[in-house]
Amino acid sequence: MPGSIRIARILGIDIRIHVSWILIFFLVVLSLSESIFPDQYPLWGAQKTFIISAITAALFFASVLAHELAHSVVARGFRMSVSSITLFLLGGVANLTREPPSARAEFFMAGAGPATSVLIGITGFLISSAIGTNVPDGSLLQAVRAIADYLGTINLYVAGFNLIPGFPLDGGRVLRSAIWGYGGDRIRATAIAARGGQIVAGCFVLLAALFLFTPGTEYNLFGLALGGTFNGIWFGIIAYFLFNAASASLQQERIVSTVGTVRVGQLMSTDFRSTPSGTRVGALIRDLVLPLNLRAIPVMSGDRIEGLITIGDLRKVEQDQWATTPVEAVMTPAADLPAVSPDDLLTTALERFGMTDLPLLPVVRTGALVGVLYRESVVGYVRMREMLGLDGRR
Ligand SMILES: [Zn+2]
Repeated sequence: MPGSIRIARILGIDIRIHVSWILIFFLVVLSLSESIFPDQYPLWGAQKTFIISAITAALFFASVLAHELAHSVVARGFRMSVSSITLFLLGGVANLTREPPSARAEFFMAGAGPATSVLIGITGFLISSAIGTNVPDGSLLQAVRAIADYLGTINLYVAGFNLIPGFPLDGGRVLRSAIWGYGGDRIRATAIAARGGQIVAGCFVLLAALFLFTPGTEYNLFGLALGGTFNGIWFGIIAYFLFNAASASLQQERIVSTVGTVRVGQLMSTDFRSTPSGTRVGALIRDLVLPLNLRAIPVMSGDRIEGLITIGDLRKVEQDQWATTPVEAVMTPAADLPAVSPDDLLTTALERFGMTDLPLLPVVRTGALVGVLYRESVVGYVRMREMLGLDGRR
């Protein structure tokens, strides 16, 4: 996700925070120190209130991280690799490199996050009730109870929000896994769950409008006092993210349903230009790039692909270095290229295209380059099948 920075590495997973999360952190500190704690504990000094608020916000941050880590750990248990977790505006996203392999895997993976939040929430309430209300005002125990109380409540709300049955929220994923497990058809299940996500987004839009048009009124929703311009804007933002994410999943699955059984070999080009390793950048530009208008060219040694050189790579070389720089110096080496085999499904190729901005993927069979798959031809093909109304699942 652009605009995010790496802050830690836990269990081999990069933990990143998005700039929007820093804003949320300060909003939480502000709402705790300016309204929630002063209302409950009016005898605390301003400085003490602020420090306790900052500690509480940091622990809230850690709880959201624990929620995401739970998703990731379960995902790994089902042999899905998780490269990073990004905490952003609405919580967190774990970056999975592919879709869950089975309904069971998705069910446990999606459920693990809210289950963790519920566990933290209950722990918070247990600590708070163990301390009890019979503590001296201003004591350390009272501060611990205040923090535990807040974390108890907020984590249950986090679990509750995430369990709303709209894909791609956790609840939507649980719903999808249930429909998928019951009917055996992931595409249909996604379509239903994503439709749910769009409906939930629609409800949030209605709530946002209600709050914005009645700025002076407070509404009680599941024990939360909501209303006013601020909550109106907030619900609008949530609706926007949810609707976009649900629509993107729907679009993704529609593509899968259109080309589900088509293989790379049916669409790859076997008639393509390549260049031997050792070619100078200047010669490549003069002989291939300019006359044939090529945007990416495989670099070969024999029938093996050594790498891929693109216009972007060539632009990194100063013009007075063109005559002396070999293509290997700036190409993407084969080891870093996402490759496909002719027998791979087109949907696999689409997933690989999604991970890069390369205009083509090398098609490799037993180490030898047998063709290239152009992004444009895949996109055009999908569009054509959609226009003709062809179903690729049979
Ligand atoms: Zn979650």
